[in-house]
Amino acid sequence: MADCLMCSLVESNGPEGGWVFEEEHWLGGVLPGFEVPGWLIVTVRRHVEGAARLNDAEAESLGGMIRRVTAAINDLMGPDRVYQVAMAEGWPHWHFPLVPRPKDVAPEDRGLPYMAAREQMIDIPEAMRIADQLRTALR
Ligand SMILES: [Zn+2]
Repeated sequence: MADCLMCSLVESNGPEGGWVFEEEHWLGGVLPGFEVPGWLIVTVRRHVEGAARLNDAEAESLGGMIRRVTAAINDLMGPDRVYQVAMAEGWPHWHFPLVPRPKDVAPEDRGLPYMAAREQMIDIPEAMRIADQLRTALR
């Protein structure tokens, strides 16, 4: 679809540095503005607006993909949780971040406050280093 950032990434080689994983229906990578170590933006390949519009193959592959990628993040980083929160407010093309939340985050800073602190946690070199390790783990 024209003027869709996710579609343009799907149709090109992905974000700078390339996709961290590529599956039949799902792609994940580090997107500009979200370069927090371990954070991946996952998107469905096809232009789909909302989970209700996923086709059967996309819907059936979603759980396995989340399990594989989250397990790789767990193995690499050992977070307390890996959040999945699909809002798709910025771009309607259905996507969501996988967000590892470290164990040492204070209880009052967990959940949405943790995600809202994204800009203070951006570390491009470390995000790319972790992305490379995840790319290798998910091959
Ligand atoms: Zn799109």
